[in-house]
Amino acid sequence: MKRRKTLWDEINEKLKEELSERQYGLWFKRVKGGDLETDHILRLECDNEYVKSFIERTYGALLKRILTDIGYPMVQIKFEVKKDGGPKEEIFTKKENKIKPKVSATGLQERYTFENFVPGKNSEMAFSAARAVAYAPGEEYNPLFIYGGVGLGKTHLLHAIGNDTIKRKKNIKVLLITTEELISKIVDAIQKRKLNEFRNKIRSFDILLIDDIHFLSGTQFIQEELFHTFNSFYNEKKQVVFTADRPPWDLENIAERLVDRFSWGLVTDIKPPEYETRLAILKLKAQERGLELPDEVFGLIARNVKKNVRSLESCIVRLHAIYSLKRIPITEELAKKELADIFSSASLKEPEDVIQLISEFYNIPKTEIMGKKQKKELTHARHVAMYIMKNIYAMKVTEIAKFFGRDHTTVLNAIQKIEKRLPQDENFKEEIREIEKLLKSL
Ligand code: ADP
Ligand code: MG
Repeated sequence: MKRRKTLWDEINEKLKEELSERQYGLWFKRVKGGDLETDHILRLECDNEYVKSFIERTYGALLKRILTDIGYPMVQIKFEVKKDGGPKEEIFTKKENKIKPKVSATGLQERYTFENFVPGKNSEMAFSAARAVAYAPGEEYNPLFIYGGVGLGKTHLLHAIGNDTIKRKKNIKVLLITTEELISKIVDAIQKRKLNEFRNKIRSFDILLIDDIHFLSGTQFIQEELFHTFNSFYNEKKQVVFTADRPPWDLENIAERLVDRFSWGLVTDIKPPEYETRLAILKLKAQERGLELPDEVFGLIARNVKKNVRSLESCIVRLHAIYSLKRIPITEELAKKELADIFSSASLKEPEDVIQLISEFYNIPKTEIMGKKQKKELTHARHVAMYIMKNIYAMKVTEIAKFFGRDHTTVLNAIQKIEKRLPQDENFKEEIREIEKLLKSL
């Protein structure tokens, strides 16, 4: 017997016409609806809070238009989250509480999934593309190249692609590898004269997910190897995904033909999240840990930490620890006090700002600080800048080296020099303290 079509069924038919199959599958399969409840209210039930807010924001206008088109211009849609808390919670309690993040043989970490990634305007495109790739690897966006700043969820999405794919297709072989690991594996294979074995092994995977490809610089031979690996994946219509801290065309010391390959499919970025998304992320991170916080505290954090999702997470981790230890309510005042240091370092700007400030502090032109001249005042300022980047900005030595266009050991030596001198020299300590203070007031 054929079921009568509900209003929601009708809307769905239109949605399927207007959206790509993927867009539809991504969002509207997770929504339940029926008929009008009163004359003008249609209730839609979403899997969870973020599906709800995403659809509201992104597809609200479209839904309104469809309603008008099919003769219901006065109808209002009310979005709701499924009463039982939705499957999201189940996933969390199962995964977060029972097993620690496990690194499987293919390099995947189970805790990073699409379900616990909060998409926003800042990451919408990257998120949809990642889902599309997991849904139909090798078909549309090959390769997929996701770039963006530190702590914005690139690694998270990369693992989520892998996790989602193996859930969907049991026998598919996924390899997730960081560029650093990949380099060391290739070097190792060369030394042991097992390059062919390595090639066969890597090519036996169906999907290749490579994290932080910006660390692939110089190393001609390795680039060559990667180039051939990429070609063989591409020719067999097997999916490759890269992440990096910048777009392909800004990568330095990488052979042109490789850069060219990176841009063959889809290049998309993740930006720092806007306020609303930051709030949603905070709420999710708190919920994952079973931590209840007043709205003011969420607001406080979202206003103070803007550039980095990892720092948002650190705030929740910190508050959770305090709560577990003391069992006292987390007030806005308490949070302000406890999170002060995270707030001040999170409000710091880009490495360029460090150079600007150091340049003003020592009254030395920026170009000289970035340059290679060995005059004493110049090297001093340069080394301090490197030290600050590592210790206040928590940049990796490789990143600092890249920023200055120096090699890793040069930077490491410079930083160690400063670290050795600091405890023995009161004036110098004061100098660094001054710089830190200035940085925080930026
Ligand atoms: P990146 O690789 O871009 O430096 P990560 O993927 O390691 O950043 O993300 C840092 C942390 O922030 C991870 O714990 C990740 O789960 C979390 N995170 C980042 N973006 C989001 C998001 N949109 N929703 C939920 N968690 C996120
Ligand atoms: Mg990462």
